[in-house]
Amino acid sequence: MRILILSDIHANFTALEAALAQSAGRWDIAVCLGDIVGYGPDPAEVSEKIRTLTHACIRGNHDKAVAGIMSTEDFNPVAKAAVNWTRSQLSPDLMKWLAELPRGPVESNDVVLVHGAFQDEDEYVFTPAQALEGLLDSTAPVTFFGHTHHQGGFSYLDNNLEVLQIRPRPNELFAPLRVEPGKRYLLNPGSIGQPRDADPRASFAIADLANQTVEFWRVPYEIGKVQSRMRKAGLPEPLVQRLEFGR
Ligand code: ZN
Repeated sequence: MRILILSDIHANFTALEAALAQSAGRWDIAVCLGDIVGYGPDPAEVSEKIRTLTHACIRGNHDKAVAGIMSTEDFNPVAKAAVNWTRSQLSPDLMKWLAELPRGPVESNDVVLVHGAFQDEDEYVFTPAQALEGLLDSTAPVTFFGHTHHQGGFSYLDNNLEVLQIRPRPNELFAPLRVEPGKRYLLNPGSIGQPRDADPRASFAIADLANQTVEFWRVPYEIGKVQSRMRKAGLPEPLVQRLEFGR
C-alpha cells in the first residue's frame, strides 16, 4: 500500500493539482494532515478535492478557525483577514465538512496522522526536544505531522534521536528515506500550498512501508497564477509575496 501524504494545502489549488499530476500512478490511497484552507485563493476547490480524494483527513488550526471551532484571537491580522475571506467562499456544506473533520492523532493503514504534535494538535514541532514525546508515545512506528510547513523529520532508536535532512535538490523531484525496522519516525511531508523551508515548490510525501521507503517530493507549480488570483480576491499582500520565496 503506497500512501500519498498531503499537508498544509492552504487553499492553493494550482499547487495541489501540480502535486497530483506529478505523483499520478505512484500511490494507492491519499491522506491529509489538515490546514486544507486558509491563506490561499481556492478554498472551495481544494476542500471539494480533498473531500473526495482522501481516505483519511484530520483538521488543522486554520480549518478550525474557518469552521468557527477555534477563536482567531491568536491569529495575526493577516491570517485573520484570510480566515474571514475564506468563510465567504465556502458553501454551508463545505463549512460543515470542515467543522466535522476529526482531530489527530488518527491511525490509517499503519501510519499515524497528526497536524501539530502527537499530544497537542496545535503545537509546532521544530526541535528534537519537541519531537521526542511524539516519537516515544505514538501508537505506530511511523507518524506523519504537519503545521510547521518544513519538510523533513526525526527518527529514534535506543535513546538516539536523529534529525533527518531529506530534501530533494533543485533538479530532483524526490529524495527517498529508508525506513529501518525497529526505528521510530516522526515525518513531515512539508506544505503543498505555502512552503516555509526556503524552497517554494509544493511538497508532499509518499510512504511505501512494505518496501521500507518514504519519498519526500518537491514539485514546481505556476506560483504567478496563484498570486494573481490572490490579488484579485484582495488577500493580504504579504501572503501573496511569500509564496515565491517559500518563507
Ligand atoms: Zn498550516
